[in-house]
Amino acid sequence: MKLFAIFGDPVAHSRSPLMHNSVFKHLNYKACYTRVHLADGSKLKETFFSLGLSGANITVPHKEAAYEACDEVRGFAKKVGVVNTIVNENGKLIGYNTDADGFMFAIKEFGTIRNILVIGAGGTAKALCARFIEDNIKVTVLNRSQSRLVYFKELGCECFTWDNFTIGEYDLVVNTTSAGLKDEDLPAPLELIDKILDNSSFAADAIYGKVTPFLQLCKNKNITCKDGADMLLAQGILANELMVKNELKTEDIKNYMSKSFEL
Ligand code: NDP
Repeated sequence: MKLFAIFGDPVAHSRSPLMHNSVFKHLNYKACYTRVHLADGSKLKETFFSLGLSGANITVPHKEAAYEACDEVRGFAKKVGVVNTIVNENGKLIGYNTDADGFMFAIKEFGTIRNILVIGAGGTAKALCARFIEDNIKVTVLNRSQSRLVYFKELGCECFTWDNFTIGEYDLVVNTTSAGLKDEDLPAPLELIDKILDNSSFAADAIYGKVTPFLQLCKNKNITCKDGADMLLAQGILANELMVKNELKTEDIKNYMSKSFEL
């Protein structure tokens, strides 16, 4: 029996155990997926091995610590320095990032996107913006505070805080802040969000499982929008494939992981 886990602080809210266990149970794959509350990210590696894990996901706030903990980082994770999936390969920790690909999958239904406004400048925004730039999408970042914008300027994004924001026209606006997760806040002042939505074709929120004030405003304005559930599902499918080392069929993983959303 293989053991997998998600590390985070907090971690109680995570749907990942439900998603992965649904796959393992229905496909008779001898594995179990649990959650581990980890306060100190520097303890990730020793905790991983002391629990005898075969693989893990990492959520807030340890994705950068996970990058440091890995013996080798592959693919896109290497570029952004942010790891959300680790796999035990013969005693070595191999790190990956499936968040950005998950988000790209989630916005496929919006068609060709050339110009995105990202609200927020945290870990999720980092991965998404690096991926957008890689795909030659024009990226503007709007964040509450200035200090986190340095990374995004170096990446080639146009960057603003609430005070100096100049409105443009966007194919898509994405809320990557945690505003609306545990409160009823908008990710920026109402007058800014109002103008942004009037100049955007589509909208998406990384938060899932609730209609945030941001999404509610999109709905009021009849803007086609979606929450973060498809992103969660898509990053989970990719993470599962890596953790079971492609022993299961993608379609089966997708099917049983989707079913867990009904629970
Ligand atoms: P971080 O803590 O790294 O970043 C948070 C960002 O939100 C910062 O830019 C911060 O601004 C901003 N922020 C926080 N509170 C407010 C507020 N009240 N008003 C305006 N801005 C605010 O978080 P992550 O990037 O890791 O996660 C962000 C969100 O994305 C979370 O809600 C998380 O649940 C969700 N997520 C969803 C996934 C999915 O699969 N659907 C995957 C990953 C994340 P400042 O710099 O000024 O502090």
